[in-house]
Amino acid sequence: MSTFLISCKSNIKPVEKDTYLMGTIVQLKVYGGNAEKATQKALERIGDIENKMSVNMETSEITKLNDKAGKSGQKLSRDTYFVIDEAVKYSKLTEGAFDLSIEPIVKLWGIGTDKERVPSKNEIEEKLKLVNYKDIILDSKNSTVKLKRTGQAIDLGGIAKGYTADEVKKVLINNKISSALINLGGNVYAVGSKSDGTSWSIGVQNPLDTRGKYLGNLRVTDKSVVTSGNYERYFIVDGKRYHHIFDPKDGYPSENGIISTTIVSDKSIDGDVLSTSTYVLGLTKGLKLVESIKGVEAIFITSDKKVYVTSGLKDSFNLTDKEFIYEKR
Ligand code: FAD
Ligand code: MG
Repeated sequence: MSTFLISCKSNIKPVEKDTYLMGTIVQLKVYGGNAEKATQKALERIGDIENKMSVNMETSEITKLNDKAGKSGQKLSRDTYFVIDEAVKYSKLTEGAFDLSIEPIVKLWGIGTDKERVPSKNEIEEKLKLVNYKDIILDSKNSTVKLKRTGQAIDLGGIAKGYTADEVKKVLINNKISSALINLGGNVYAVGSKSDGTSWSIGVQNPLDTRGKYLGNLRVTDKSVVTSGNYERYFIVDGKRYHHIFDPKDGYPSENGIISTTIVSDKSIDGDVLSTSTYVLGLTKGLKLVESIKGVEAIFITSDKKVYVTSGLKDSFNLTDKEFIYEKR
């Protein structure tokens, strides 16, 4: 929940809906004559994807797939198969910095639940043996996915909100909307431009300050803006912060100096995976990855208050908090 609309001056009133879905606050701001109907359709689509992909729902396709691990495959809808397929592609591309089979580690730590705790090294090592995206067997012909070993499980928490934002955009466009803001708990899609034709201004959260305090803003038109941060879901034990983005190499919250990654892209599914992946990869490898993908830009913030911005954002990002040092790439 780190990127928000700062301003939207317009005399045309949007339809605004705030609701709780996918374990987060969903905010839709939709402009145009058909906005009421389009917003309703968009909310239905979010509910539909949540029902298919949530690990917290017993009847979801992901839960069914996880329950069959080591036994048999699960036939999936086009939505779920597509997201798993994309997640596997990115797991390969990032050499496992992003790994959709991270669920046993996510569950063990329980961050954001009433079971959150620091597990023992032994427990982490045991669960880590189950984490390996190479054990995900995809059968595109039958739209079926199987996990090789008992106990293995998939968690789409680092990708599914991005896919959802793309699908919400599709629903809005199909319902004659050309201007809207989609915010799925910090996973933002600025559809088109503002209703007065100017670009949207999206605030970038100061990861060291309270929620809603921005260190700068981004001007975008028809782009996805996704942020991953260590302030999003965490707990503190003996002064140490444990957050929800894990390094699949050791099973601990990723600690490499980065405290926030923002990805600007055309597709939010890419932005979501890349924000999580680059957080784990760290500054050097993360920047290299982003720079190797056409049309994708990034803002990385490190714990020593440096802000790294890729060249494509040099005119659209405005750093306003003078405590941070701007490092152009
Ligand atoms: P991101 O950085 O985008 O992703 C972090 C999340 O990705 C982690 O929370 C974990 O799930 C996963 N992850 C961590 N490390 C890695 C890694 N190395 N590789 C791959 N993935 C990793 N939350 C609730 O509290 N209750 C709910 O009922 C609930 N339902 C949900 C249903 C759906 C369909 C989705 C998509 C999410 C749901 N969530 C729910 C939220 C979810 O548990 C995550 O916390 C959330 O998606 C994190 O998003 P983010 O943008 O903050 O972080
Ligand atoms: Mg993400």
